[in-house]
Amino acid sequence: MAHVVTADCSKDMECAKVCPNNCIYDAGNQVVISADECMDCGMCAQECPAEAIYPVDEVPGDKQEAIAFNEKFFEGKSPEDLDKARVQV
Ligand code: SF4
Ligand code: SF4
Repeated sequence: MAHVVTADCSKDMECAKVCPNNCIYDAGNQVVISADECMDCGMCAQECPAEAIYPVDEVPGDKQEAIAFNEKFFEGKSPEDLDKARVQV
């Protein structure tokens, strides 16, 4: 289980300010969440002004592509690449 960011993200980075595990990454037009690191605390979803973050099993039907988008971001990336993309606030 993990939380997932949809394309509704406006990149104001409020989620990264509250994430206790620093597992939010800059994916270009939006941020994404590492399923390996996310503890499912839900704090990011509470803070998101765009309502862009959902638990993976509660992503609305018309936003299901977000699940694969979040997963794919992490495929094949080196630890160094991930460190560069990790949102620091
Ligand atoms: S709080 Fe919501 S809108 Fe802001 S960066 Fe995070 S996911 Fe995107
Ligand atoms: S659910 Fe918690 S651990 Fe997971 S990304 Fe959001 S704030 Fe971070």
